[in-house]
Amino acid sequence: MTDLSNAGPKSLTIIGAGLAGALLATLLARRGWQVEVFERRGDPRLQGYAGGRSINLALAERGLHALRAADAHGAVLEQAVMMRGRMVHPLGGEPQLQRYGRDDSEVIWSVSRGELNITLINAAEAAGATLHFDRGLDSVDFDARTITCSGSGEIHTHPFTTLLGCDGAGSTLRAQMAARRDLGERTEWLGHGYKELEIPPAADGGFRIEPNALHIWPRGRYMCIALPNDERTFTVTLFMALHAESGNDDPDFDSVTTAADARALFERDFPDTLPLIPELEHDFVANPVGSLATLRLDRWHLGGDAVLLGDAAHAMVPFHGQGMNCAFEDCVALAGCMEEHDSLEAAFAAFEADRKPNATAIQDMALENYIEMRDLVDDPDFLLQQALERKLQARHPGRFVPHYSMVTFMRIPYALALERSNIQREILVGATRGLESLDGVDWAAVDTEIERQLAPLMDGA
Ligand code: FAD
Repeated sequence: MTDLSNAGPKSLTIIGAGLAGALLATLLARRGWQVEVFERRGDPRLQGYAGGRSINLALAERGLHALRAADAHGAVLEQAVMMRGRMVHPLGGEPQLQRYGRDDSEVIWSVSRGELNITLINAAEAAGATLHFDRGLDSVDFDARTITCSGSGEIHTHPFTTLLGCDGAGSTLRAQMAARRDLGERTEWLGHGYKELEIPPAADGGFRIEPNALHIWPRGRYMCIALPNDERTFTVTLFMALHAESGNDDPDFDSVTTAADARALFERDFPDTLPLIPELEHDFVANPVGSLATLRLDRWHLGGDAVLLGDAAHAMVPFHGQGMNCAFEDCVALAGCMEEHDSLEAAFAAFEADRKPNATAIQDMALENYIEMRDLVDDPDFLLQQALERKLQARHPGRFVPHYSMVTFMRIPYALALERSNIQREILVGATRGLESLDGVDWAAVDTEIERQLAPLMDGA
């Protein structure tokens, strides 16, 4: 057992220098750990960023808080684009902005995955961590306490004290841990996938559509979204079923494959995007279809030998924009546990006990949010519930806090946000049932329910 109460140098090995790995390396190196990081890809500062997954991401308060802990928030926000709300594009109708928060203090930020990763890699090195690129983990010998990595045609063996797994949804470390002890792993495939397309800058070099919004084209069981990039482009993501689904005639990636199929789909369902995406046919055929899944594990650590975090422990579907935010929150929590506990085993156990229920909650909320984004954002009942939600927020400040705000603008545990959201949804649905406007709301009954069921909320900051 590694005794953390010793004053001597303490060393650890992180697998993966992606978003979580690079941030965790920074936080731990700053706390005096000797940190070595092994990353499968080449150094993105030398070779360009080889992403493979979403080009940009929505950064919210949980992620920002973690970046503040690493003093990286300033550099990240300099390159970010503010998103005030959802710009909903109904078929044949005018776009409507639905604000996320009360004002510009409650917004989210669109950040480039590549730029963010490079900022964090620089921060990790500045903090004293040693990063090895082109060294993908292949296997772990837990008895000999060595890892074997490969890259650039070479195989390397390195000793380790403890392993922190930040190697993403397809984690090799997780597979090596599972060979030693069943982690209770389940992968729930969504059955829907995504493809990325691009809106280039306008002829004058500016944005072609409103930059300070996350655009959504909801179409029932499928949708497009677009997030702005600081070079005045938008990354458009089409989400739809991978295969034909029984009971509906919706498009799917099996049947929409050629350039002509793509044009026909967009002409029918997303006609206002056609003038915005000049390379639609080319991008559709050239870009891969990504698949989406929720990964659930019963165990995240092997004693004090290894622990998983971020997507390696709890990959989720991207519809709440929280996977990275949650991974960053994990990093702060793990660094805190390693400071508070006398042994790595105790620290990893405390980390798992704290974070696993919260990861499960945000995984479930992310699945629910797919339905909200693709189907409900232009539904009259849902819009009435949202109008009531805003009124109740003003009527019961700090007690009735909208679901989106609890997840996005606060740092209360995700599990608490889910519990309160479920209560609030029942109140909203009950109070607006059968109504077309808020005129008929029984305010006294709603107030009583809120005071009975919802205690004042303190942000766990
Ligand atoms: P990753 O970012 O996947 O990093 C893993 C790293 O490990 C990579 O650098 C990889 O090269 C490396 N690696 C892999 N295997 C090995 C190995 N064997 N040895 C060494 N290194 C290895 N989250 C948000 O918060 N907001 C969003 O808006 C958002 N949008 C998304 C949109 C899409 C389409 C998708 C798919 C995801 C989105 N996410 C979003 C989720 C987010 O991308 C992930 O939660 C986040 O990247 C997790 O970070 P991570 O460091 O755990 O894993």
